[in-house]
Amino acid sequence: MPSVPLLLAVLMGTGGTVVLASTFLPSASSDRVLALVRALDVVAIASSFTFTRLLQGRRRWAQHAVMLTATLLVSLAVLVSGGGGTALVYAVVYYPVVVYGFFALSRLGALLHLLLITAVGAPLLASQEGVGVAEQVVLWGVASMLGLAVAWLVAMHDGSETDQLTGLPDRAGTERTLERALRRPLGSSSEHHHVAFALLNVDSFSAYNATHGAGAGDELLAQLATTWASALPEDALLGRWNGDAFAVVAPGRTAHQATLLVEELRRSTPAGVTASAGVAGWGREETQSMLVARTEGALYLAKQAGRDRVHEHSGPGTDGREVRRGLARVEFEVHFQPVVDLATGEVHGAEALVRWAHPTRGLVGPDQFLPDAERSGAIVDLGGWVLREACHRAAGWAPTPSGHLPHVAVNASGRELADPLYAAAVEEALISSRLAPSRLVVELVESDYDIASLDLVANLHRLRSMGVRTAIDDFGTGSSSLERVRLLGADLLKIDKSFITDITSPDAKAPLVAAALAMADAMGMAVVAEGVEEPHQRDWLAARGCAFGQGWLFGRPVPASPTGDLPAAPLGSTNRTSTHAG
Ligand code: C2E
Ligand code: MG
Ligand code: MG
Repeated sequence: MPSVPLLLAVLMGTGGTVVLASTFLPSASSDRVLALVRALDVVAIASSFTFTRLLQGRRRWAQHAVMLTATLLVSLAVLVSGGGGTALVYAVVYYPVVVYGFFALSRLGALLHLLLITAVGAPLLASQEGVGVAEQVVLWGVASMLGLAVAWLVAMHDGSETDQLTGLPDRAGTERTLERALRRPLGSSSEHHHVAFALLNVDSFSAYNATHGAGAGDELLAQLATTWASALPEDALLGRWNGDAFAVVAPGRTAHQATLLVEELRRSTPAGVTASAGVAGWGREETQSMLVARTEGALYLAKQAGRDRVHEHSGPGTDGREVRRGLARVEFEVHFQPVVDLATGEVHGAEALVRWAHPTRGLVGPDQFLPDAERSGAIVDLGGWVLREACHRAAGWAPTPSGHLPHVAVNASGRELADPLYAAAVEEALISSRLAPSRLVVELVESDYDIASLDLVANLHRLRSMGVRTAIDDFGTGSSSLERVRLLGADLLKIDKSFITDITSPDAKAPLVAAALAMADAMGMAVVAEGVEEPHQRDWLAARGCAFGQGWLFGRPVPASPTGDLPAAPLGSTNRTSTHAG
């Protein structure tokens, strides 16, 4: 739909210009009348600029001021017209005022302005010479018809994409607005063409519905729709995305500016209600669905992080330039999380987990930049750096009290494993760090690779022949099949933390964990349980023969110690002895 300020500029600006031009053409009016009409016209054209700007801000009263000013100017023209045909011609200029009212205002607002125009215009025309009742009936009859027709067209357009409950554009309407916003206006350079998209989700909406009784949820959504829509600037759009989620299309804004807007909306939720939001700014070359997917991802992360917050996606950056720049400036860090031997409680090794000490964003977790790094291929450089760093650190770790030399586990994404030079890079890292190959574990995220890739098979074969061990990471989350596990021939199986949370009590059944342990045993793989947070989970796993555990119970990922020690597992690693290597 064309924007309201634009329509105003067109109607008031061009209407004024036409009338102004007419005053210089042969006319029945006196010079005095023409001079007065010209003056009124100049005021009309000048005020069209002011009002257009006011409407671009969020001043709702400006709509009524526009209508009143236009009504006044047309009425003055009728008043000075000298009557007859000229008076009627100037009264016709009420028409665009009526049209604008029914386009830009609520139906009731527009109707009230139409009544006001008639109440002012009719007596005014009646006081002019040569205007009869018949002319007035036609004039006001046509004005009402025009209003009705515009209201009809607007309703037809809105109704097709309007959410019944909230009166907001529905998902289709919102998507169409976003699509239009992404089309760069002619003449604007792409660097300055910003569009941000946000999704807001009411937290614990089903619980709200359950506790507040039937219909309360709908009332809440309708209330939020009204509050939020009126809190947004005129050029931003609030739409209903689905069930309890709203969307904001914010043209001309960066992700950061949209985050500030969304924070403002979140502050206006009623007491006891919170909302989470994801925000993303459109990136050049990015499609609409990529932008929406990134926003959905950001919303997911906001929910994951505990709800009642906004997560701003860092940007598409699909060219990986930022990651490579970060690498060149040595902004990345490797943190290590201990892997503990559940039978002895001793630290058995550690997993290397990359972090980005970003100059403006602070310490950024891998979820924030790995997807971009993978899409762009920068992961190969980044992973290579993590590998070398991890091997060098691990080479300095001393044996544990029982004499075991701790291993280091490094994650490898599908993209790295499909790189024909991956195994060679591993070999180089081992040689230059002098780390024994048996002390390195390469973790493959289960769903992350193409088992049919020849390069991947060759890499795995070469790693194995060097004596490097491999682990299947996040087991149970992806498209796992026994066939895939068998084909990979890994040495270790890491059961994903989402399964370990099933161990809710010391006598929990947790059948999937039990099944994974049995399968690994049958296939001769040792098991690492990920995400162990509770002592009873550790005891449950140890009692069922799980060899290793990793999780906050034993220690969070920490930066490499300046003394070169292996990360300790001081708390909860065991109820027997607590050990520290080095
Ligand atoms: P992952 O390999 O499964 O690593 C374990 C993740 O679980 C880490 O998240 C770790 O901080 C987290 N974690 C460990 N114990 C607990 C716990 O008790 N509770 C909970 N809630 N979480 C726990 P992080 O560091 O955010 O890493 C996320 C993923 O990013 C990793 O999952 C891995 O797939 C990937 N990643 C990390 N570093 C690298 C890297 O250098 N290269 C590649 N390709 N991927 C990496
Ligand atoms: Mg891992
Ligand atoms: Mg994992």
